[in-house]
Amino acid sequence: MQTIDLTNVSIDNIESTLLKEKNIELSVLRIDKIHPVISGNKWFKLKYYLKNYAANNYEGIITFGGAWSNHIIATASTCAMLNTKSIGIIRGEKPKKLSATLQFAESFGMQLQFISRENYKQKNTFYLTELKKQFPHFYFIPEGGRGESGEKGAGEILDLVTKIDYTHIACAIGTGTMFSGICKASTPSQKIIGIEVLKGLNSITSPTPNAIIYSEFHFGGYAKYTTELINFMNNFYEETKIPTDFVYTGKLFYAIMELIKKDRFPQGSKLLVIHSGGLQGNSSLQKELLKF
Ligand SMILES: *Cc1c(COP(=O)(O)O)cnc(C)c1O
Repeated sequence: MQTIDLTNVSIDNIESTLLKEKNIELSVLRIDKIHPVISGNKWFKLKYYLKNYAANNYEGIITFGGAWSNHIIATASTCAMLNTKSIGIIRGEKPKKLSATLQFAESFGMQLQFISRENYKQKNTFYLTELKKQFPHFYFIPEGGRGESGEKGAGEILDLVTKIDYTHIACAIGTGTMFSGICKASTPSQKIIGIEVLKGLNSITSPTPNAIIYSEFHFGGYAKYTTELINFMNNFYEETKIPTDFVYTGKLFYAIMELIKKDRFPQGSKLLVIHSGGLQGNSSLQKELLKF
């Protein structure tokens, strides 16, 4: 079985006429390369939960997610590596045909339990109490690895960067856990750019004074996409050989390029964009759409 390999991480420098013209350096931190299915940032977010788990006498791990969840697949495959029992509480009725993500999770030995959307909404309150009665010896990890442990682990993404003279660091925002962790691990003179991939409701507040959040690049909402986004991802791949996913990193890179075009970064800026992974999610798209 493939294990996590942090030595695969690279920092790729992007070259383009736009960047030259605007006098901006753009580097990409490729944590998507740590594992073929474990999404870069999900591994970091899981790290301290796994430590808590190991320090106590639990029977296994339970967590939550939807049919295409990067967190579910990351947890399933990490638990398989650690020889730990895992249960995935999945939002919605069991479909006739499981999504590629859930098939993968099952193949890693994760036991899937489907619950209604109504119960799923109560997963941090009354339904959690129900589940804890049902599985008293299991360790519960919140959806998406959200929470303090997740933040702390995500902050360690910056430990992969030895040269830290970047003026700006950018990442995608889902729950905002990674963004908060990065903000807290950054230096006050760095600007931390967060690109929200969900529409409205989930907007997070700035975790530190150097945080800047953009909310206009969600392309209709979580896991929504347009032809423009898909075209951008294909062109970006052709120019840089960097594959992106349509839920998080495609929107992130699109936004950064737009912000560069609109002169939102001063000349001489050195940008580090975190490629957080998520490529497995592209398997929910029609095959012909992406050229990679
Ligand atoms: C989950 C995820 C994110 C968002 O992380 P949050 O901590 O939830 O904001 C970004 N990129 C990828 C690839 C992810 O899987």
